[in-house]
Amino acid sequence: MGLTLTYRIRPLLLGEAEVPNILDVFWSLSTDRGRSSVPILGFLIEGAKDGPVVVDCGMRDPKRAMEIFRLGPHSCSPEQQLTAQLALHGVRAADVRTLILTHLHYDHCGNCAALPNARIVVQRTELMAAAAPMGPASLPIGGKSLFYDRADVAELIDPLWDRLDLIEGDCELFPGLACVLYANTHTPGHQCIYVQTDSGAAAIVGDIARKVDLNIEQAIPPGIYYDLEAMRRALADIARRADIVLPTHDWDTMKRGNIG
Ligand SMILES: [Zn+2]
Repeated sequence: MGLTLTYRIRPLLLGEAEVPNILDVFWSLSTDRGRSSVPILGFLIEGAKDGPVVVDCGMRDPKRAMEIFRLGPHSCSPEQQLTAQLALHGVRAADVRTLILTHLHYDHCGNCAALPNARIVVQRTELMAAAAPMGPASLPIGGKSLFYDRADVAELIDPLWDRLDLIEGDCELFPGLACVLYANTHTPGHQCIYVQTDSGAAAIVGDIARKVDLNIEQAIPPGIYYDLEAMRRALADIARRADIVLPTHDWDTMKRGNIG
């Protein structure tokens, strides 16, 4: 007779960005040259024994996003600030005990300092990749720092270093809440967060999948990956394990709303 522990997931709308649609489908097969406005999401997970968990925390500064990575306009209204989004659910920033980062691209780890009491869980290989990114300066989008903001990396190394929890591989942080490393997919140390809910297993997939129908159901990899085989294996694994797939940049994630 086991007690099944389940969690509640709330999407947080932390900004919006205009990006090229080629990011949705891997380069050589994409003919779509249009642009779309996409959300930048984080997630609040409630039900962990030591307090609220946040997954990803949005971008540092919409202007930096455009200037450094040469993407379209980005925005973050006052209502989309991390603290305001948490307040919608009655959670104060100081209450958050755990911040999990799927990866360290500028739109996922720009507000770590806003959660003053959270340990910050990230894969060690991801921090290493972010510190020494492989972007040629000539890259039309992404640039030399390849979507990693030097200011975010610097902040994690100091002053946030003492709060960093660098994990290596898969790790069950709490019963029914686990980080799974999918190396060399969207980034070298990208992890997905699997969460048990009353509606089944939810996967917070970061940017491994951008759209559930294209990337998971049709198994077409999205536009950015390091190793195509690793990416295809990851997408198949997510399809097999998850009842609910939650990409960061899909309005459908927001429309689905609260889970549990
Ligand atoms: Zn992203």
